[in-house]
Amino acid sequence: MQVKKITKVLIANRGEIALRIIRSCKELDIKSVSIFSTIDARGVWVRKADESVLLEGDPIRVYLDYKNIVEIAKKVGADAIHPGYGFLSENPDFAQHCIDNGIIFIGPKPEHIALFGDKMASKVAMKAVGVPVIEGTDTPITDINEAIKIAKEIGFPVIIKAAFGGGGKGMRIVKKEEEFVAMFEAATKEAERFFGRGDAFIEKYLSNPRHIEVQIVADKYGNVIHLGERDCSIQRKHQKVVEIAPSPRLNDTVRKELLRTSKKAMIKLGYESVGTVEYLVDEEDNFYFIEMNTRVQVEHTITEAISGVDIIYRMIRIAEGNKLPFMQEDIKFRGYAIEFRINAEDPKNGFIPSSGRITTYLSPGGPGVRMDSIGFKDYVVPTNYDSMIGKMIVSGLDWDSVVRKSRRALDEFIVAGIPTNIPLHREIVRDEDFKEGIFNTTYLDKKLPTFT
Ligand code: ADP
Repeated sequence: MQVKKITKVLIANRGEIALRIIRSCKELDIKSVSIFSTIDARGVWVRKADESVLLEGDPIRVYLDYKNIVEIAKKVGADAIHPGYGFLSENPDFAQHCIDNGIIFIGPKPEHIALFGDKMASKVAMKAVGVPVIEGTDTPITDINEAIKIAKEIGFPVIIKAAFGGGGKGMRIVKKEEEFVAMFEAATKEAERFFGRGDAFIEKYLSNPRHIEVQIVADKYGNVIHLGERDCSIQRKHQKVVEIAPSPRLNDTVRKELLRTSKKAMIKLGYESVGTVEYLVDEEDNFYFIEMNTRVQVEHTITEAISGVDIIYRMIRIAEGNKLPFMQEDIKFRGYAIEFRINAEDPKNGFIPSSGRITTYLSPGGPGVRMDSIGFKDYVVPTNYDSMIGKMIVSGLDWDSVVRKSRRALDEFIVAGIPTNIPLHREIVRDEDFKEGIFNTTYLDKKLPTFT
């Protein structure tokens, strides 16, 4: 395989991840091109890119129209496209369309994106390469009575999941048989609305699991390494709010096994680029694969902090056809890192998304604080997109100091004009259980009523 140096990257995304990609491009002396909707004209990433192209039309659809995006890439002379996360990042047709047009898709192979886009098929594939999966069905529910029978065999509670779901959508927990039909209908309807496909399957519902995921980096020559795990148990509505690396209370033997299993599976499947293998770990420390994400994730930052590896930079180098310049033994993990997702939403009012003008913006700083944010004074947060306006990443040598540093940084952070979830984060870092590193996926639901 040949190495083909990338000279210009079009970023098929918006917001903080677009800015993050631009930053790596600058360090690599690669030109960056951003695309933007009419609403995003004042976005910082638009101004930081070397070139930017306005996309007239529906402000969401323009970021999804991949044929047009590839046309623009050709027109501006971009030789590669980075999809970021969300939008087109896990669309195998987009990846294939880039390849067919002679443009490097900075990400995994289309066949892997397609395979892992189907949660049910992913479970079957991972099971076949020795990864434990949660008990459940491996074909879509077609007969509701049959499904209820299976649910009874598994034992309630069960969870109904959309095969093509994501972002916490298309999932319903079913506590007893009587609720099954209604929950099944709710899950499939939601899946159809958000993902255009209603296929659903059943899985055993684990009561107090931790969400632990493994970062994988793989080149085109079969070299696969892991960059440790992240604990993403602190969630609201099955969506991550705070992420931590490494998982503070994960048993060392379990950690080793998780990392080893993930890496082995990716070698067997011939995976390439970066990806994340997600697991739930139950109270007895059994781990089960739930899904694989074939893109850079929001929380890649904390892995960068503890491993010293720049994940976006590496994705680009891999896409060019370069071999990994390091092996597993070269990766030395250091300390802890926490990422706080800064969302424009009102924690005092049911977390409804907020929009409007930021009137004051004072970013925290100091040792161990990294800000990946698109916020600034007078920026108008739109209603059209995801509510995350940035991420605060805090790192240090030990857990206690990182928690203290986080508390200090969150207290420094001022965003006025619109409500944000910063007050929620301030409560979390003062919570005794959090300080002890004790949390699972039910943590926030249980704590929210106790926070002021
Ligand atoms: P999505 O792709 O929508 O993010 P995931 O399958 O990754 O969905 O699950 C998101 C979250 O939902 C998990 O982190 C966990 O909190 C919860 N969850 C998913 N499956 C189960 C399960 N079988 N038992 C308990 N909780 C689950």
